[in-house]
Amino acid sequence: MMDAIVAGQPGGPEVLELADAGRPAPGPGQLLIKVAAAGVNFIDTYKRSGTYKVEFPFTPGSEASGTVEEVGEGVEDFAAGSRVATAEGSECYAGYIVLDAAKALPVPDGVDDLTAAALPLQGMTAHYLINSSFRVEPGHTVLTHAGAGGVGLLLIQLLKERGARVITTVSSDEKEALATEAGADHVLRYAGFPHHVRDLTGGKGVDVVYDGVGRNTFDGSLSCLRTRGALVLFGAASGPVPPFDPQRLNAAGSLTLTRPSLAHFLGNPQERRWRSTEVFDAAAKGSLKVRIGGSYPLAEARQAHEDLEGRRTTGKVLLVP
Ligand code: NDP
Repeated sequence: MMDAIVAGQPGGPEVLELADAGRPAPGPGQLLIKVAAAGVNFIDTYKRSGTYKVEFPFTPGSEASGTVEEVGEGVEDFAAGSRVATAEGSECYAGYIVLDAAKALPVPDGVDDLTAAALPLQGMTAHYLINSSFRVEPGHTVLTHAGAGGVGLLLIQLLKERGARVITTVSSDEKEALATEAGADHVLRYAGFPHHVRDLTGGKGVDVVYDGVGRNTFDGSLSCLRTRGALVLFGAASGPVPPFDPQRLNAAGSLTLTRPSLAHFLGNPQERRWRSTEVFDAAAKGSLKVRIGGSYPLAEARQAHEDLEGRRTTGKVLLVP
């Protein structure tokens, strides 16, 4: 018997409980995976709390790494024993998961199981943000919030590798040190950040802001941009942004606003392979450092959510069955 985390109804972290779960059977085109580690992501908290609608009882988790134990009919790309990971699973806070083989990513030898669970969702997010939501070019100046977070630390490294100048925000000295170590050129606190960003850019503003914080930073982010700059709003760690008047984009200098989601940037097997190969290869050769800031036993999922929502985590948060 293996365990899974189940929430009976929407609510705070306390709704997450450990329950007995069976060992599911893979259907046609699916893999049965013994989970090595499951990734904890902010989206799991939106689903748990009811901000995003899901069916209850609900087992969170769309990210995991592990080893294939059985393959369903028609699966050709994987066999029992293959090491895989995914950013597109469901019910990953569990000892076993069943996954469509098309959504499984092969894990290269140089990437260990914990790193393999830490990288898919936040790594491919950082990848699409800088390549596809807004194409960052060498010489661009970029502001990205929550620089010591899971997405934040990866984003800073990819931006520096691209040749951008990176400004980031954090809430503590410890987080400042991590963002600096990742390569950020300027690490700010949130208080007064628009003013500091204007100063740092000689009054001009940045080319793009990547904002995963949402409600608390959105207005400031808009006011940091250069004429014809872009705001990529990709999350709501502080809560959702209230309704918005598009005329504000005109008044602030013909800005572009987009609100992307990873699912729409993994549109076909080639795109999934492109993003996953680039981030996994970078991790395997050590040019992309993956910080696992917290690793909790599966039974402590509640604590992991409390810490993530309470801003007490850095880098990636994992659950280990
Ligand atoms: P993080 O590890 O970045 O954790 C969130 C961080 O946000 C905190 O550590 C904290 O850093 C900062 N923050 C600022 N204000 C608050 C607040 N009021 N409450 C909680 N945290 C706050 O999480 P992830 O890397 O998992 O995700 C970052 C963002 O990216 C989330 O909004 C998530 O939803 C989004 N996301 C979006 C995707 C997409 O495709 N659209 C895909 C993946 C993630 P500090 O203390 O330094 O401020």
